[in-house]
Amino acid sequence: MAETHPSELREGTHPRGRNTRFVIIGAGISGVLIGIKLLERGFRNFVILEKAGQMGGTWRDNVYPGVACDVAAHLYSYSFARNPTWLSRYAKGPDIWRYYHGVARQFGVLPYIRYHQEVMSAVYDDGAWQVTTRDGEVYPADVVITATGRLHQPVLPQIEGLGTFAGALFHTARWDTSIDLAGKRVGVIGTGSSSTQIVTALAGKVERLSIFQRTAQWVFPVKDTPNSFWTRMGFWLSKKRWKRYYLQLRSETEARGKAATSSEEGRKARDQVCYDALASIRDPELRAKLTPDYAVGCKRLVFSDGFYDAVQHPSVDVVIDPIERVVPEGVLTRDGKLHELDVLALATGFDAHAYIRPMQVTGEGGVTLDEVWHDLPLSYRSMAVPHMPNFLMINGPYSPGGTSSVVGIAEAQVDYILQLIDRIAGEGVTLTPREEPSRAWLQAIREKAKVSVWGTGGCQSWYLDKTGTPTLDTSTLSELQAQLAVPQWDHFIERPR
Ligand code: NAP
Repeated sequence: MAETHPSELREGTHPRGRNTRFVIIGAGISGVLIGIKLLERGFRNFVILEKAGQMGGTWRDNVYPGVACDVAAHLYSYSFARNPTWLSRYAKGPDIWRYYHGVARQFGVLPYIRYHQEVMSAVYDDGAWQVTTRDGEVYPADVVITATGRLHQPVLPQIEGLGTFAGALFHTARWDTSIDLAGKRVGVIGTGSSSTQIVTALAGKVERLSIFQRTAQWVFPVKDTPNSFWTRMGFWLSKKRWKRYYLQLRSETEARGKAATSSEEGRKARDQVCYDALASIRDPELRAKLTPDYAVGCKRLVFSDGFYDAVQHPSVDVVIDPIERVVPEGVLTRDGKLHELDVLALATGFDAHAYIRPMQVTGEGGVTLDEVWHDLPLSYRSMAVPHMPNFLMINGPYSPGGTSSVVGIAEAQVDYILQLIDRIAGEGVTLTPREEPSRAWLQAIREKAKVSVWGTGGCQSWYLDKTGTPTLDTSTLSELQAQLAVPQWDHFIERPR
């Protein structure tokens, strides 16, 4: 067999590093991504532990009517696995799941996924990690990589009597698809992106649709234009053409992100689009109900070209009287009105601050993640944690959001993580970020976030932590890629394994 010349070996494929053991937690977009990249580098000694019985994260869990992604489909795909056949500018949930499942299969990642393996703890001892699942399976690892997503733990509202409802009751991320909604009276609590997609899909298709709104949302209309056969053919045949389209989408998305974070001019233009859309509501009373009392972009914008039409359908009610309690027949509002319902959907969002918890993580010297994160979820650039050697995160606390596609962000982070992995595997070392640069980075990110519209816009949102500071890096994808191009090695403590 031909020998490989040392110059042809990348660090990660160095024989010394080949047996490095990896445990990846979560088989969503990020978990599959790192799996693909490890395989590309010649690593085979890894497992992806998935708590559910299927891969796909968000796109496995969210199967509600109208589920789609309001980030353009070509941006919401891996850059190395373009999909010329997206049917329209924005993709539907099932098509996105099929795309990611197809890519995972194509790149040979599926056999590395272990299903029904919910990780309960990861403990570092004597140079290695022991990852333990709910069933008591133990997976030893030299490197642990969490890819657990940010919006995956549903929040159930604290509403009196919720458990007494006699009809069907579920969170949007646990939608009961066995129920035929035709002829039903459906209630939706909440008005975020999930709710507005559901409302747009169901208006006029159910007997009555009641939206229980606590806070109105700003809506930015986006046209979901179909990609014609010839357009798709063009993408298929011409990489150049696809690249041009991709870059155009990316700059549009980044411009929206900049409007939220820094560009006054961009903000004005974006705000006007939202004002104009709101003005299209004919009934002044309904328009008043749907008019937010905070700055555009403070909450994550709802991107929809159908929501305002949907709420004007005669079978749709926007209820703004606060919910008093839930009773077996439906929802009782404070004005004493009973809204009778057969189905009640809780579009009440996710605990975006749980991060990788409830998993218990114990690092060097018995220091726990809960201790390190006691005040704030301290990390080094969202990807590594002081006192946790070789413990890496994709889309960890304070990752950028709202400025570009989460897929691009994950790719930028994975490219950085791979540089750490090359060193960890090639040199046989552990890397632990130093506390000081981690704190400095976190402080800088928080200062920037505080002055963005997410911090100053006068609203409540899942972006904010308990101090009222947005937990997001305001960098755009281009900025992040530049920041992460080369690791600053002196920010890490390096020890032999
Ligand atoms: P969300 O944006 O957090 O919205 C939750 C809604 O529930 C809010 O309207 C909230 O009201 C309401 N709510 C919560 N507790 C309540 C209570 N006790 N009583 C009454 N109302 C209550 O959740 P989401 O719509 O699931 O979206 C979460 C995030 O997922 C989005 O921001 C987005 O990042 C992502 N997402 C993306 C897409 C996409 O197409 N890319 C689609 C869906 C979701 P308040 O505003 O008053 O708190």
